[in-house]
Amino acid sequence: MRVIVTGGAGFIGSALVRYLVLDKGYEVLTIDALTYAGCEASLKVVEGKASHRFLKADICDRTAMDEAIAGFRPHRIMHLAAESHVDRSITGAADFIQTNVVGTFTLLEAARGYWNALAGEAKNAFRFLHVSTDEVYGSLGDEGLFEESTPYDPSSPYSASKAASDHLAKAWQRTYGLPVVVSNCSNNYGPYHFPEKLIPLTILNALAGRALPVYGKGENVRDWLYVDDHARALDLIIERGVPGETYNVGGRNERRNIDVVRRICAVLDELVPADAPREGLIEFVTDRPGHDARYAIDATRLETELGWRAQENFDSGIEKTVRWYLENDWWWRPLRDRYDGQRLGLNAAPA
Ligand code: NAD
Repeated sequence: MRVIVTGGAGFIGSALVRYLVLDKGYEVLTIDALTYAGCEASLKVVEGKASHRFLKADICDRTAMDEAIAGFRPHRIMHLAAESHVDRSITGAADFIQTNVVGTFTLLEAARGYWNALAGEAKNAFRFLHVSTDEVYGSLGDEGLFEESTPYDPSSPYSASKAASDHLAKAWQRTYGLPVVVSNCSNNYGPYHFPEKLIPLTILNALAGRALPVYGKGENVRDWLYVDDHARALDLIIERGVPGETYNVGGRNERRNIDVVRRICAVLDELVPADAPREGLIEFVTDRPGHDARYAIDATRLETELGWRAQENFDSGIEKTVRWYLENDWWWRPLRDRYDGQRLGLNAAPA
């Protein structure tokens, strides 16, 4: 099985590449432009393996995509490359439109050209998985869950660009017959998560005794999924999902942001005792504009039709994640030094 993974030097993409190469024994070509968020060190464990190749290329570059696909002759393309940080999309949306919309279009066209030229079983078996987010559905109130049929209602430039790319992916299936499957997943956490995101930012700031910025009153709810559970889901969806269909992925692990931050503080206080409880470092900062109140995924379809279940519960997953950051400063310190987490975020100053 030959699989192309775009965005494979990113957080979820690298977890997927490690899973496909090490656990599934697939041959993988990682394509990644190595933007600020891409990190080759996340692929260290597959480095030098005959079954893994890495190509530094931009998904917006049609010639590079055509050549990569023609040269590797994949059975599957799993598309994860994206600009992914909501705060950055608010202060500079252009890269999000370019990579998430134009890049997805370019890759779909390259895949279509390749697929059109296939014949017989190879053509029937080819699959393209477009990996997306639950943020395309907008915000929930206190009740309800996002289902595959929930209307799109994105709030941020990031989620709007992902919504646009989802529509392109589905249109390429309906119009051209390209066998595209779409997945929409809730918030991921786990090892190799870039230090600007809430969970790693909190771990690293708390460890350094720095302020722990929390938007608003920390009451926004997210549905957290351990990244390795997502990687398994993606492999299952591309293997058994029906082209043209969408599969929601979520861990049934709803948590308020403030509770996530408190839980990290408690785990760290236990593992690395400090003079005072780290909860005291929490600083509430002015809320992000357009901040969705609550996301929660109904993953029934994935669970019943494809037999997937999240294996990691939130408490053990958070503890594993904190331990990983404590043991792997070789990975995060260079990133942290370049992109100081304390200065990231829209509102690093207290409200
Ligand atoms: P990430 O920011 O960690 O990684 C993105 C990767 O894409 C990076 O390695 C980057 O170098 C690469 N990239 C960016 N622009 C590129 C371009 N033009 N050409 C080639 N490579 C490029 O993101 P992530 O958190 O791993 O998310 C991966 C995918 O999953 C995204 O499509 C995202 O929308 C989706 N998703 C993320 C989450 C989450 O919680 N992180 C949840 C659901 C869905």
